[in-house]
Amino acid sequence: MTDRDTRHQRSMQKLKQRVDERVAAAQEQRGLLLVFTGNGKGKTTAAWGTVTRALGYGYKVGVVQFIKGLWECGERERLHDDPNLDIAVMATGFTWETQNRDSDTRACEQAWQHAERMLADPGTYLVVLDEITYMLKFGYLDIDTVTRALTQRPAEQTVIVTGRNAHRELIEMADTVTEMHDVKHAFNAGIQARRGIDY
Ligand code: ATP
Ligand code: MG
Repeated sequence: MTDRDTRHQRSMQKLKQRVDERVAAAQEQRGLLLVFTGNGKGKTTAAWGTVTRALGYGYKVGVVQFIKGLWECGERERLHDDPNLDIAVMATGFTWETQNRDSDTRACEQAWQHAERMLADPGTYLVVLDEITYMLKFGYLDIDTVTRALTQRPAEQTVIVTGRNAHRELIEMADTVTEMHDVKHAFNAGIQARRGIDY
């Protein structure tokens, strides 16, 4: 072995020891609150990736889509007939399409009923509240209502919240927060959203 090999081996041994120590120190087992926020692409994609991951082990999953009622969604197409997946879609599109605050609020309240049902079900391993941050921002949904339901959920249940500008209280409550940072986006170069890639 060269000196370089020996040095590499030694540093890998040290790294392994540190990782093993941290793995051993992580003792707690419970459901998590994850927040995927920020302006970059990938929040909803990451949520669906986790849905697929949980379904892969046969866990029951609930997804509430808070603003994409009229949108196509490839993951929903692929997964909707999985008996372990419960999907609720808010029955309206973007607010600037419908331009009706009352009907949007009602649609949001209906979607939230589904969310509450899922958040109260100990059999549901994972709940995704996709784009819910906008409901809070537009005032269609009250932050206290949401934090109460999150606090009271079953201890083994994991929840993923997605959307830009996540409410400070959600960030504080969360176990894991990832901010997708927009370095570049094709849309800003005039390229259309692409089927099967962007939705
Ligand atoms: P995705 O659904 O691709 O994971 P996202 O959930 O992070 O994206 P949203 O803010 O929900 O992003 O945006 C919805 C749509 O806008 C998606 O088609 C997404 O690809 C696109 N998009 C995401 N980020 C940007 C951006 N920075 N500029 C323009 N379009 C974006
Ligand atoms: Mg999204």
